Amino acid sequence: MDYDYVVAQTLLLGIVALIGVVFTFSLPVPNHKTKASSGVFARLFLAACWLVEVFQTVRFSGYEDIGRMGFYVMSLSAAYMLMMTIVKRYGHSLNRQQIMLVLLHLVGVALCSLLLQAGYLSQWTANTVILLSVAFPVWQAIRRVKYYLATNSLGDKVLYAVLSTVFYTLLAILPIYLIFFDASIVHHHSLTFAILLVFMLVFMLSFAVSVLHSLVNRLHTQVHTDPLTGAKNRHFFYEIAPKLSAHALRNNEILSVVACDIDHFKAINDKHGHVVGDIALKRFCKIIKDELRAEDTLIRMGGEEFLVLSPHCDRNQATELAERLRKVISETEIEAKGVNLMLTASFGVIEMTHNSEFFSSVKEADQALYNAKAAGRNQVITV
Ligand code: GH3
Ligand code: MG
Ligand code: MG
Repeated sequence: MDYDYVVAQTLLLGIVALIGVVFTFSLPVPNHKTKASSGVFARLFLAACWLVEVFQTVRFSGYEDIGRMGFYVMSLSAAYMLMMTIVKRYGHSLNRQQIMLVLLHLVGVALCSLLLQAGYLSQWTANTVILLSVAFPVWQAIRRVKYYLATNSLGDKVLYAVLSTVFYTLLAILPIYLIFFDASIVHHHSLTFAILLVFMLVFMLSFAVSVLHSLVNRLHTQVHTDPLTGAKNRHFFYEIAPKLSAHALRNNEILSVVACDIDHFKAINDKHGHVVGDIALKRFCKIIKDELRAEDTLIRMGGEEFLVLSPHCDRNQATELAERLRKVISETEIEAKGVNLMLTASFGVIEMTHNSEFFSSVKEADQALYNAKAAGRNQVITV
């Protein structure tokens, strides 16, 4: 391998790093401040990877000491930048315990470097030390992603799979390489180049997939959520709810629908203004949500009209639920901008049967609600 070849490799990696850095600028930036800084660390990671290669080239061109020192320091920096990218990616900072761990690790690595410099350690040991010291922050990053896998995001799964594959391949390949080949600087150079190239490319891709996926998830949630009350909205009602009900009925599960409308709400707006009306609506939803199970879904159909989808709930249980909601609403005082309000609401309940069609069941529940209004409000009528 001649010197020109090595320089060409370094330039190539520089171009890949540059493309990666530009690529991170084109990714959507999360509005969470800490999360946004993960893009900065991703850029530093890519730059550090390239500097690793630059120092390898310096080493190859005859400046052995400075080249090797730079190589070790930049490898470690790249690993830490990777770790910080992942930590910030989930909107965190390092806690005190983690900072202590990082500092201890750095002191350990520095100590090993000094021993190496003083000739106490062989080149093989030195290579192993640098390998393990780089592996530590990468391992921390992997653990962090793994912790978030419970959120079930496909993007995070991709990031985790890619990081662990690269990490374990690195751990497996390098010792074999060190044992079966002489750890000459030339071998070292081409292997570092290959590993960095693969690492940078897969990192860029998996990072992008992870960022895009969480953004799409957030948008998905926002599209289906009413911003004032946090309940599901009409989009959800038209797109998701019919599928949910059809799925439940297909699996022979029972499902009930409770329709609800606040009584004389217009009077509250007229008397106290829209702002008080909005706050009252928010509190009203909070009271209802606190009464529901995790599997129930509250949908704001518009204005002050709501729908509760209650799986595994038959006609009687749904009536009990509506009655409980009616009672708690009529007994809870709602405070909005210094005004104390007492609300009541009317309910219509229906249990869906095997051959029910979602929208016609909702219509029937609505009719029952209308009957409850006509019968004097603040009551539950079950179809
Ligand atoms: P009832 O249902 O008992 O027949 O009487 P109501 O006065 O509640 O009548 P209706 O349900 O037809 O009126 C809905 C009122 O709710 C109209 C409007 O003033 C108010 N409203 C609807 N959406 C909002 C909202 O987002 N914010 C506020 N503050 N008020 C709303
Ligand atoms: Mg009303
Ligand atoms: Mg209404």
